[in-house]
Amino acid sequence: MPKLKIGIIDLIHKGPTNSLYAKIMHANLASIMPQVVATWCEQEGHEVKFAVYTGLENISKELPKDIDLVFICSFTEAALMAYSLSNLYRSQGVVTVLGGPHARCYPEDSAKYFDYVLGFTDKDLISEVLRECSPHKPLGVQLSGTKQPEGLPGVAERWKFIEPTLKKSPLLKIVPMIGSMGCPYTCSFCIDSTVPYQPLDFDIIKEDLKFLLTKYKRPWVAWHDPNFGIRFNDYMEAMESIAKPGSVWSIVESSLSILSESNLKRFKHNGIIAVLPGIESWYEMGNKSKAMHIQGEEKMKQISEHVNMITQYIPYIQTNFVLGLDGDEGKEPFELTKRFVDLSPGAFPGYSLLTAFGEAAPLNLSYQQENRVLPFPHSFLNNFLAMNLKPKNYEWIEFYENVVDLAAYTFSWRSIGRRFRADPHPIGKLMNLMRAVSAEGFGRLGYFRKVLKNLKQDKAFRAYFEGETTILPEFYINMIRKDLGPMLEWLPEGAMYHDQNAYLKKQEASQPLKQSIAS
Ligand code: SF4
Repeated sequence: MPKLKIGIIDLIHKGPTNSLYAKIMHANLASIMPQVVATWCEQEGHEVKFAVYTGLENISKELPKDIDLVFICSFTEAALMAYSLSNLYRSQGVVTVLGGPHARCYPEDSAKYFDYVLGFTDKDLISEVLRECSPHKPLGVQLSGTKQPEGLPGVAERWKFIEPTLKKSPLLKIVPMIGSMGCPYTCSFCIDSTVPYQPLDFDIIKEDLKFLLTKYKRPWVAWHDPNFGIRFNDYMEAMESIAKPGSVWSIVESSLSILSESNLKRFKHNGIIAVLPGIESWYEMGNKSKAMHIQGEEKMKQISEHVNMITQYIPYIQTNFVLGLDGDEGKEPFELTKRFVDLSPGAFPGYSLLTAFGEAAPLNLSYQQENRVLPFPHSFLNNFLAMNLKPKNYEWIEFYENVVDLAAYTFSWRSIGRRFRADPHPIGKLMNLMRAVSAEGFGRLGYFRKVLKNLKQDKAFRAYFEGETTILPEFYINMIRKDLGPMLEWLPEGAMYHDQNAYLKKQEASQPLKQSIAS
């Protein structure tokens, strides 16, 4: 195979930004797979140019140049930037490949703008793409393994791509690691709910932790496992075997069912400094929060006690909620969350608006069958800029009034002050304060207020939410223009729009074929 010049772009953000949060955190949010693909390409003897876009750079200067093929990794919110980059590269004769969550959620739409669209990706799949390396128009080729790869290059092998990324971060340097894929739980909205749980090699994890201790006095690690600690003892033994306990500080996403008091003692011993459990709803998904048979106020009180117990062991906790789930009705779910904010001031609450990401989860098929999915452009599908599902039990204005009320309560100076006092750790205090006063707290509250105002005052805006028109309100078109900045001229025609029911249509089209094979 001839030696190729390959560009790899990790799109961490969708467009130019100057926010404080972006400056401190974006470089710490780098994805693992672009680093993995870069490593595999080099192992195959190709030349790699690696770029990370955090929103703070001048993108045209950042892009790899003089290349034969480019891999772009993107979440759905950055998809229009990814499509524009692909268009630019294709105009120069470069073959383009899309991977990452957007490629898995919207493969049909992505294939309109890329030569290759990758689902589950392993080294063999990458080799296949590199061997062929051909343009495919008008539709790109969709390729996927049958499951997640069984092994990935560790931190030491990826270091040449990790190090320059972390240089962009002025304060914290958080190294991305992963020890498992998939999840044994089946939360109906989650992309990992259909991926079987699969641990990676614990020996590689040990080697990586040892390696990191040669790079930093006290390394920080963000574990990208969808649900950290399912193989609890293996993880803890790996951490305990490498050095003085607690010499590496870790941030993990674990379900509450894993965060028992005995496990937390061992987490603390081994330097787990931040946990991000999902509570999601007071009325649904109790199995992963050890609250299977209770709901409403009873569940809220039990979980609040559990969270307060966690704060005795772990300095930083973010509790995740999904707003607008079908099990929620009326003001009560929002009022319960406000009470939770009061009862558990040590936790930072993260709110996501219910979003159906293409074919991420089987539940999205039912939403599409019920004709509830709205065609909001990809740029707004990041769990807060738009809720692309008509809520089952709320009118839009009622829903947004509750969202604004909850956000205003959570990010009031009273609640910010209580969180500041409740967090015993200076870094936790500062983190909570920064998040509340920057784009995430005040910023989102201001944005929700604008959406509510438009829903009340602008008939065409409201009609879009009701599914009565597909004409995108100017409010959103202007946001896309701002997001893309200098790349706007490369946005492919029609790319602002996608078929929000593509998953259902694909399933229906495959049914007659399956039936004829069976008969
Ligand atoms: S526990 Fe977390 S990772 Fe697992 S399916 Fe539920 S939301 Fe997804």
